[in-house]
Amino acid sequence: MPTDPAEPNLPPQDDSAAGENICPQCSGSGRLDGQPCPTCDGTGKVMEGIGGG
Ligand SMILES: [Zn+2]
Repeated sequence: MPTDPAEPNLPPQDDSAAGENICPQCSGSGRLDGQPCPTCDGTGKVMEGIGGG
């Protein structure tokens, strides 16, 4: 089965970025059931609501 060409190639888990949280929906995988996770937009991470804006 061919994969999407526009698929983000995310590196392994990285604990360097701040303000980001591992997407609880896809557990940081960025994909759900073979599809890009809508919660994190396929990034595997979700932005935390810091401050606001
Ligand atoms: Zn996700």
